[in-house]
Amino acid sequence: MQKTVLIVEDETRIAQWVKTYFERAGFYAEVCADGNSGLQMARQLSPDIIVLDLMLPGMSGEAVCQALRRDSDVPIIMLTAKGAHHDRITGLESGADDYMVKPFNPEELVARANAVLRRVKGKVQNTLECGLVTLDLSAKAATLAGDPISLSAAQITLLETFMRHPNQVLSRNQLIEMAFEGNFDAFDRAIDSHIRRLRKVLHTENHAPIQTVYGAGYKYVVEGSNA
Ligand code: CA
Repeated sequence: MQKTVLIVEDETRIAQWVKTYFERAGFYAEVCADGNSGLQMARQLSPDIIVLDLMLPGMSGEAVCQALRRDSDVPIIMLTAKGAHHDRITGLESGADDYMVKPFNPEELVARANAVLRRVKGKVQNTLECGLVTLDLSAKAATLAGDPISLSAAQITLLETFMRHPNQVLSRNQLIEMAFEGNFDAFDRAIDSHIRRLRKVLHTENHAPIQTVYGAGYKYVVEGSNA
C-alpha cells in the first residue's frame, strides 16, 4: 500500500524538493506551508508520517507537534535550523520521533522516514487487539478493557491463536496444531481447561468472545468484524 507523507514547510523550494524525493521513493506527498493548515491537513489526511519544519509562520512546528501528540502517534520527523542545538531538543521534547538539521540530504530524510516507519510497524505488530481484549506479544501480557488479566504462558499462546483468527471456527486439533505446534500429548486434555480459564477471565455479562460451535470446535467472536 502506498504510504502518505505530509510535509509542513514554509520554504517552498525545500518543500517541493522534499516532496519530489518522497514521490520518487513511492510515497504520496502533500505539502502545507504553515502550522495551522498543517495541523488541519494532518487530521484530514491521516498520513503515515509527517515531516514538520520547526520554524513556521503562525503556529510553530513545536506547537503543531504537541497538538498532534494529544491524540495521535503518527511518526513525526522535525526539520530544525543548522546548529541550533536548542531546536533539536525542543523538537524531540515536543514528541517528534526524529529530526534533521538543515541543510540536509533529502535522500537521508527519506531513509530516516522509512526507518521510523519500520520501527513503528514493528511496535504495532507486537500488539493484538480484538474488541475489549489487548494482547502484548512482547510482554506476553493481556488486558481486558484496559485491566491486566492473569493467564499462564500456554493460555496466552492459546489466546493469541484465537485473536489471530477472529470469527473463525477452529477445531480442538487446529487449536493444538496452531498454538502448541501439534504437541498433542501435553495439550489434548489440557486444552479444555485452558479454554475454561480463558473464559473465566475474559467473559463478563456482556462480553463472551469464546463460543463453542457444537461438533466443530470454538470460535473467537469479535463484533463489528467480518474477518
Ligand atoms: Ca521555516
